[in-house]
Amino acid sequence: MDSLFCKAIACPDPSLSSAKAIEENGDNAPSGTGRRKRSIGEISKFWKPGRTLRIAFVNEPGQAYRDAVKAAASLWLPWINLTFDFVAGKQGEIKIFTEYDQTYSLMGTDALTVGPSDATMVLGLKIDDPHFEAKVVHEFGHALGMHHEHQHPDADIPWDLPKLYAHFAKAGESAEEVDRQILYKVDRSLMLASRYDRKSIMHYPVRQELTIGDWSIPQNLKISRKDKAFMRKAYPPA
Ligand SMILES: [Zn+2]
Repeated sequence: MDSLFCKAIACPDPSLSSAKAIEENGDNAPSGTGRRKRSIGEISKFWKPGRTLRIAFVNEPGQAYRDAVKAAASLWLPWINLTFDFVAGKQGEIKIFTEYDQTYSLMGTDALTVGPSDATMVLGLKIDDPHFEAKVVHEFGHALGMHHEHQHPDADIPWDLPKLYAHFAKAGESAEEVDRQILYKVDRSLMLASRYDRKSIMHYPVRQELTIGDWSIPQNLKISRKDKAFMRKAYPPA
């Protein structure tokens, strides 16, 4: 039975989260005016365009694993105005831990809210996972501040809710976590005016048996055209 594909984790302290987000990048503050006014507390968590992100491992996964993560994460680089520096030590803005059976990442600048020896991203992935690259790209999407695409306010997935909850309950996931990672919709302003995109690398695969009618989405393997456009808005060239 599958556990959740991945969890996007928010800092549990909203005031610390927003202070760090705005200190890093003033454009993360809610704009506060007009039609696109955000709900209270809805801030974006993008890094400051132009900066270098140091990426470290808090355990030693081996050179082949390091190289595979670097290759996958770097697939974002053509679309973002950021530099990745994969460092040898354990200190960085993004700190990866690989010895666990789940996969998740803090959202963007929430990585600045953890302690110096705490991981910000957990990759419970074997290097021979056939979807290793896609899953690492997805986690780095969160680390760059992207939300789950299946939680887009216009996502029209006809979930069979009793089956959905039962499926993940068998894997030990609470209904609250299913709500948080799958069903809750993200505030529209945080989607940067991107339309709902079934091809996004940030979309969960959707199994037909968990939906009503003939509706499914495979594991998306590539950064989609709209993913690229989103990142260009979040991290515009200087
Ligand atoms: Zn995710």
